[in-house]
Amino acid sequence: MKKVVKFGGSSLASAEQFKKVKNIIDADESRVYVVPSAPGKRFSDDTKVTDMLLHVYKTASEGKDIDEEIKAIKARYDEIITGLELKDFSLDEDFEIIKKNLKEEPEVDYAASRGEYLNGKIMAAYLGIQFIDAAEVIFFNEEGNLNDYKTEKTLSAKLKQYDRAVVPGFYGMGKNGKVKTFSRGGSDVTGSIVARASKADVYENWTDVSGFLVADPRIVDSPKAIKFITYRELRELSYMGASVLHEDAIFPVRRAGIPINIRNTNKPEDEGTWIVESTCQKQDYVVTGIAGKKDFCTVFITKAMMNSEIGFGRKVLQAFEENSISFEHMPSGIDTMTIVVHADEFIHKEQSVISAIHRLAEPDSVEIESGLALIAVVGRGMKSASGTAGKLCTALAKKDINIKMIDQGSSELNIIVGVNNKDFDTAIKAIYEVFIEKK
Ligand code: ASP
Repeated sequence: MKKVVKFGGSSLASAEQFKKVKNIIDADESRVYVVPSAPGKRFSDDTKVTDMLLHVYKTASEGKDIDEEIKAIKARYDEIITGLELKDFSLDEDFEIIKKNLKEEPEVDYAASRGEYLNGKIMAAYLGIQFIDAAEVIFFNEEGNLNDYKTEKTLSAKLKQYDRAVVPGFYGMGKNGKVKTFSRGGSDVTGSIVARASKADVYENWTDVSGFLVADPRIVDSPKAIKFITYRELRELSYMGASVLHEDAIFPVRRAGIPINIRNTNKPEDEGTWIVESTCQKQDYVVTGIAGKKDFCTVFITKAMMNSEIGFGRKVLQAFEENSISFEHMPSGIDTMTIVVHADEFIHKEQSVISAIHRLAEPDSVEIESGLALIAVVGRGMKSASGTAGKLCTALAKKDINIKMIDQGSSELNIIVGVNNKDFDTAIKAIYEVFIEKK
């Protein structure tokens, strides 16, 4: 049995947290490869080290002095080093190099990545195991995406040399030979890549919550935790705004069939959530999770005899493509078609899209509306349950919520409902109540 364990920023924000992490690692000898984030917040209005580093970059690129800011970051690490009583260990030299590099040639990704790099060094010293610099084993291609082939080959060969090691999260090497990071929260992706390259049995992702919750706790009071969720369900939910894990963290392990176990560093006894390819585990509820996002726009197009006009849909979509706008959903009627898009992508291009639709598809009318919220009700159990959509609509009707759109794909994995932005919270609460509380 081999496990890769990734620890998030709040799990590594102080010496106290580092000690918890060591206890977790020591409690299971199969926890052999460790992927740390940078120190996160120690209290709610604290600043994450990554954000401090991004600020240093900004200061340096404006040509201003960075000494004080670097000192403040160093103090964060020194506090951890002292708290862990790491006697013969120091990051003094690393800080000198970082300061010099940032002064001479400030690079945003290099600056941001140093949080994980330095934390990885502390972690390796504290655990007494090998440190592997992610810039030597994780590679990006020219487009800035992960170079899967080269990474897998190099990383797996490197990991074979060490029974145990620390690989800092969040960054790798860009095609131009400079350090490059994933998007924010990207240490999750590193963990997934390390799990695949080491052929791990489990990818444990340790954070500060005991797994995924059925709904957003800011909307629903103490929502239930999800025990098992499939990769596909998770993808739907995280796309719709549920966040615990970086979206791109699913792909590497998914392809290798490695399950992810989300765990809580502050409550290691909790089982957390298992993210799996497929499972026979009996589900407590038909619905696995509920998530949503506000601020979509709809573009409503009518044209007499649209239904029999071959190529009409393609022409309409071309208008969006020409403006580099991706669409979310496309419910249609006999002579009508609606395209749902993200407001922030669409608003500043709306007139250009409308004129393109007129030019390309010659519709009778095009109307746009904003303020739509989409809610995804996701569950693999829907496939074998009847009446899910009925229950959902009734729950919303009882709260006087008008459904502006409803969409169920033939995968039967999710139902998407569109409601007014103002009804968003009430709708989520109503859906939670009917499927979870009153099951
Ligand atoms: N430290 C980075 C961030 O704050 C990456 C991570 O924690 O995963 O986004």
